[in-house]
Amino acid sequence: MYEKWLVGVDLGGTTIKIAFISQHGEIIYKWEIPTNTKEKGQHIPTDIAKSIDQTLNKLNQNKSKLIGIGIGAPGPVNFRNGSIDVAVNLGWKNFHLKDLLEMETSLPVVVENDANAAAIGEMWKGAGEGAKDLLCITLGTGVGGGIISNGEIVHGINGAGGEIGHITSVAEGGAPCNCGKKGCLETIASATGIVRLAIQELSSTSIPSVLREVYNEHQTLSSKQVIEAVSQDDEIAKKVMENVTFHLGIALANLANGLNPEKIVIGGGVSKAGNILLDPLKKHFAHFAFPRALQGVELAIASLGNDAGVIGNAWLVKKS
Ligand code: ZN
Repeated sequence: MYEKWLVGVDLGGTTIKIAFISQHGEIIYKWEIPTNTKEKGQHIPTDIAKSIDQTLNKLNQNKSKLIGIGIGAPGPVNFRNGSIDVAVNLGWKNFHLKDLLEMETSLPVVVENDANAAAIGEMWKGAGEGAKDLLCITLGTGVGGGIISNGEIVHGINGAGGEIGHITSVAEGGAPCNCGKKGCLETIASATGIVRLAIQELSSTSIPSVLREVYNEHQTLSSKQVIEAVSQDDEIAKKVMENVTFHLGIALANLANGLNPEKIVIGGGVSKAGNILLDPLKKHFAHFAFPRALQGVELAIASLGNDAGVIGNAWLVKKS
């Protein structure tokens, strides 16, 4: 049987992940190319088009095998024309991604925000398991989010829907956030936030901690080291994780109170902590969630890892 493929592209600041994906969501072939940010990122669409052609050649396939391309990009998307208003990491300003990539590939292109695409991926093939009302939060260097309501991504009026990371978590005296505000969830519940809180905690007490030795030796810490220290029953690390899950629990509970989701999927590097994160998070979440919203929802760690983006973008092509 001749089955056509979908192309999923996940555009990051350092690498571009590309995959040929079946219409059932199985990855046929995936690869990566470096993100060329030279000359304000203007070569990116050509690089993607060339790489798709080269890979088709390698697999002895013709372009007619492809249905279209779904691409997830960092930053808010302008949904009227598939352009990206600003993507600082890529050097883009008012960049007409959809038009340029369609011109280079002669294929239809769908553009989506990367965190939203990851949410769709988890809904289709991951921990979301087909839930039509789903929240997806990515705890990485920053905190990204995607909200799916009744099977549709919540984009909002100008593409800022799902910016869960910028929910205000500390009303007064919070740490500065990249968005220009202070006290955003991202300043606490990201890998960066965990490290910041741990260092702050180390300098404000003299409680013995395995983290103190690491910090004194290297003058820095990683979120992974903090998470590992929790499993060694380290007091400072446990206090940090308690703080992180408390703020995350309030934010997710308040979102759940408004959206009544079936699933909340937690992804990103920090989610590798598994139950060290999930157990205290469930406790705080339950404390702040409206009883009926709590009854309906399940919290789960994301299952697709780095593939969530390409799979979600492929789904968006299939659906378009
Ligand atoms: Zn912010």
